[in-house]
Amino acid sequence: MKIDHIGIATSGIEQALGFWKDALGLENVHSETVEDQKVKVAMLPLGETRIELLEPTSGDSPISKFLEKRGGGIHHIAVEVDDIHAAVVRLKAAGARLIDEVPRTGAGGCLIAFVHPSSANGVLLELVQQKA
Ligand code: ZN
Repeated sequence: MKIDHIGIATSGIEQALGFWKDALGLENVHSETVEDQKVKVAMLPLGETRIELLEPTSGDSPISKFLEKRGGGIHHIAVEVDDIHAAVVRLKAAGARLIDEVPRTGAGGCLIAFVHPSSANGVLLELVQQKA
């Protein structure tokens, strides 16, 4: 397993790129709106992993709720797995609380499933299986 990306909630990606791209020097290689999750996403590779900037596209986006409660910051950590269905079965068997019991399509067309923070020491964990 490896960390696929670290998701960071922002109220505006353009403004956030002023730090992550212009000041720090990362490259924004992919931008996308994920309608399903009501977020705009920018992906910036960083070594073996990536920074995922997240901006809400509507007031009822999960990112809007996060920003209201806590302001910007680390929203989730995403772990790449080879077989997301097997990972979900394993976590369920171990008693973990899953937000997505059935994996769904996320940014870049990969399969994703979120594990509830209550099962991961307060960290929202995203499982990612890359597109075959
Ligand atoms: Zn993510």
